[in-house]
Amino acid sequence: MNNSSNIKIWLSSPHMSGKEMGYIEDAFKSNWIAPAGPHIDAFERELCTYNSVGHSAVLSSGTAALHLSLLLLDVGPDDYVLTQSLTFVASANPIKYLGATPVFIDSEASTWNMCPEHLEMAILDCLKGNINTKSGKGPSKLPKAIIPVHLFGMPANMEEILKVANKYGIPVVEDAAESLGSTYKRKACGTFGDMGVFSFNGNKIITTSSGGALVSHQEQFITKAKFLSTQAKEAAVYYQHEEIGYNYRMSNVLAGIGLAQLEVLDARIWARRNNFEHYRSFFQQVEGVNILEEPSADYFSNRWLTTIMVYPELNGGITNGDIMEALAKENIESRPVWKPMHLQPLYRGCSFYGQGVSEEIFDKGLCLPSGSNLSLIELNRITQVLEEVLTKRKAADKVRIAS
Ligand SMILES: *Cc1c(COP(=O)(O)O)cnc(C)c1O
Repeated sequence: MNNSSNIKIWLSSPHMSGKEMGYIEDAFKSNWIAPAGPHIDAFERELCTYNSVGHSAVLSSGTAALHLSLLLLDVGPDDYVLTQSLTFVASANPIKYLGATPVFIDSEASTWNMCPEHLEMAILDCLKGNINTKSGKGPSKLPKAIIPVHLFGMPANMEEILKVANKYGIPVVEDAAESLGSTYKRKACGTFGDMGVFSFNGNKIITTSSGGALVSHQEQFITKAKFLSTQAKEAAVYYQHEEIGYNYRMSNVLAGIGLAQLEVLDARIWARRNNFEHYRSFFQQVEGVNILEEPSADYFSNRWLTTIMVYPELNGGITNGDIMEALAKENIESRPVWKPMHLQPLYRGCSFYGQGVSEEIFDKGLCLPSGSNLSLIELNRITQVLEEVLTKRKAADKVRIAS
């Protein structure tokens, strides 16, 4: 194989539109090289318009946005915050930043996101004082917040999750870091709860190299988020401070990148959904591999990452690890599904409500290369390796059976 046909294929790499440098030059020309400026204001307005939400604050990261959202809900050391176990660690860490106790909820198989039934079980156990904390069982009280995640772009079952949250009056912060542009019942992910979080990290569907946003229908949350993200400086000519603040604002230079990226978001979604269709038509001819589909027409995924479940008992013994290894050999990056938080050493001993769904997804799941910049030639290179690994072992099995 020559070099050009073996160029590395990444799982999900930045995909510039070409217009970013123009916005960056604007920032330089106007000398707004600061965490303030016209690109920030414009990026916030455009994000609001795109998502049909009233208010937004662009920040240094999605993690910062999550941290601020929990601060705004007054989460503190004696509180419980519920989040889904199957997620990237950044969904859970801000709970610990505030000294609160995370409680982990299993996934439902249809979306891989928070299971509404286990959510309610966890809430009832919070009320009973049945939750593990650092110092034994914690107090009997309602959780302070629920953080559902729209993992890999797939919307969570927001209708049922909100039903449970509203029944007990618990605020909801959606971790929509991976799902900008996804919708549930035609409404943007991130705009169902009290607040929503987006990320513009390098591998997300659009990027500002690093960055994030907090959105809300409620102005007071976003006003306060902007205040806390700029060191909580009071309105006085001298530097007056009455509470702890943070340096979490996005740079005006990066907001310029965001403006250019947002212009092509719909094209990026289209490209990623196209990747998914390419994989789907391939896997239709393969036994023992399931691709995660949208459960119904209510769900529209941005298809940030195409994910599959690999069942060796049904496909002649091929595991997700075998596929990952075969791809890696051809210089193609794939990745296991996020390791559930309740299996992480960091969160050992935390309460978990579930029935093995997230464990099975972790055990059998795989994320396939899903960048919006993949060419058809690259997609074919990937499916060719998949075909080889999935048919080779079967052929070997047949030989063994015959002999
Ligand atoms: C990327 C990500 C975050 C964190 O966003 P950063 O901008 O990287 O801080 C949070 N939650 C999930 C599910 C993510 O994938």
